[in-house]
Amino acid sequence: MRAVIDAHIHLDMYTQEQQTRILQGLDDANVEALVCVSNHLRSAGKLLELSKKDGRVKPAIGYHPEQVLPTEEEQSALCELLDQESSHFVAIGEVGLPYYMRKENPDISLNAYIELLEKFIRKAAQLDKPIVLHAVYEDAPIVCDLLEKHNVKKAHFHWFKGDKQTVERMIRNGYYISITPDCLYETEIQQLIQNYPLEQMMIETDGPWPFEGEFHGQLTCPNMLHRIAEKIAFLKKFDLGKVYRQLYNNTKEFYNLTD
Ligand SMILES: [Zn+2]
Repeated sequence: MRAVIDAHIHLDMYTQEQQTRILQGLDDANVEALVCVSNHLRSAGKLLELSKKDGRVKPAIGYHPEQVLPTEEEQSALCELLDQESSHFVAIGEVGLPYYMRKENPDISLNAYIELLEKFIRKAAQLDKPIVLHAVYEDAPIVCDLLEKHNVKKAHFHWFKGDKQTVERMIRNGYYISITPDCLYETEIQQLIQNYPLEQMMIETDGPWPFEGEFHGQLTCPNMLHRIAEKIAFLKKFDLGKVYRQLYNNTKEFYNLTD
């Protein structure tokens, strides 16, 4: 089995026992590292702590957009953490815009979220760190505008979904996307795999988010990454070994992962 890296997982959202089981199972599943994004300040603290115990945990610090905005206090604490711990985290994330929350409640004002996101983008530029984005469908062009405005190029749109024009713009700008286990059964994602260059692609579980199809009823775990690599090779008609190598190198280089 070839080595893989989970480019996006919420490790702190699993129970303590599940976290232990996942970390213990990584070697057997040939999973070399986990890029662990934070949802908020508490989450960032937990992940930094976990990364000090287990070097395969590569933390990212951010504030997930699909929730109420952070208090001023939490915002400044996050900024402080970003400045102080800059050698201990690999990226800024998960950040972005609240697409699904707005679907449920269209009255939510987007402006405050854009403002917060712009702060994180500025920070990414200032600290020269990659940024992990949650920005789908019509939110993606707004985020592209912001990235272009601040000349931030190391952008990873995780679990991306969007229109053809935006996909082309993202490819041109050198942005990366990552593919989740839903590529086994979602035609929208299968088309994206066919249209996006392998050189700008990574794979992720977004665990503990649950999946359907062959994964129905299973706890989302990094060993599912192998099924994604196989599906990408099948859809792109590429040699499986080449796909594994490219995905691995992309993630390692994008996140500047060292052992
Ligand atoms: Zn996520």
